[in-house]
Amino acid sequence: MLRPKLLPYLQFVTVDGSLTIHGRKGELWEVTGASAADLLRLVPFLDGTHSINDAATKSGLSVELTETIVAYLAEQGLVVNLDQDDGPETNEQTDFLARYDVLSAGHEPARRLSASRVMVIGEASWADDIAEALKRIGVGAVARDKAFPQVLPEQTSLCVVCDGGAGPSIFREANRMLSDMRTPWLRVCVVADLLMVGPLFIPGVTACYTCYETRLISNAYPVDSSLRLYRHELFHGRGRAGASFGAAGMLVGGLVALTALKFLSVAMTCELVGNEYTLDISTLDSALHPVLRVPGCPVCMTARRPPTLLIPPRGVRKGEEYGKSFQQAVELG
Ligand SMILES: [Zn+2]
Repeated sequence: MLRPKLLPYLQFVTVDGSLTIHGRKGELWEVTGASAADLLRLVPFLDGTHSINDAATKSGLSVELTETIVAYLAEQGLVVNLDQDDGPETNEQTDFLARYDVLSAGHEPARRLSASRVMVIGEASWADDIAEALKRIGVGAVARDKAFPQVLPEQTSLCVVCDGGAGPSIFREANRMLSDMRTPWLRVCVVADLLMVGPLFIPGVTACYTCYETRLISNAYPVDSSLRLYRHELFHGRGRAGASFGAAGMLVGGLVALTALKFLSVAMTCELVGNEYTLDISTLDSALHPVLRVPGCPVCMTARRPPTLLIPPRGVRKGEEYGKSFQQAVELG
């Protein structure tokens, strides 16, 4: 049994008996005459929980007229017909996703999220906020571990790897383990007043963490002291020097959840695939930095097997080639 559902972002505005339907930006429909009044009577029952017969009975319209109106709305792309299996439950997020997935009114991307498994790894206290935010967007299973587990839970769709003061060595470990397992992972780092989310690495598809580190080092200034500091943090961590404000976890939690929503639902472009997002909390300056592969990177070269079980990345942005040597990173390690 099919149950018509109006797309949740539609707004119905009546002025002097004429009806205007407002959709997404720039979308507008005009309905005039008696059909405007009939349509308005039917609107409350086109919510995905009523069949045509139910909607007709409750609105007081005939079944034939109800069918005609629903057919008109479907022709205009304003209504979808949900199956019994789609379930009547929707929430704010499904309604939001409908803007990006009109064909299933957000149900399909919501299903993809509930089928996903995400693992959050790292000692940072704010990593718990990330796990909480991932549950809020409807990720089916969220696992949490302070250290890198020897074996990942089966069919992990995404790992979120957090550096919360222990330094970037955890990212090297992630690069090594997750490249072999072909598991996409997201780097999250909070250092005092700088919040960093991304890149989202997809082994065999995007630049890897070794590429990222090479470019980071190539762009460091002044070179000598920056390298010495990076090496120190790699082996000894940052300790209290990396402490940020108490609610930093909620900020990065929201950003990570948004990234996971885009990546796992495949309904929207995920900008952090291959890009790093930085937010300076002292100035609120933010930037998206592209991270391109370093020619000759050994990790990327061994990860060129055809990817399996990967969600195709959307909208990987192209950026400037930094063009510095790979050698420095190798020496550093
Ligand atoms: Zn690489």
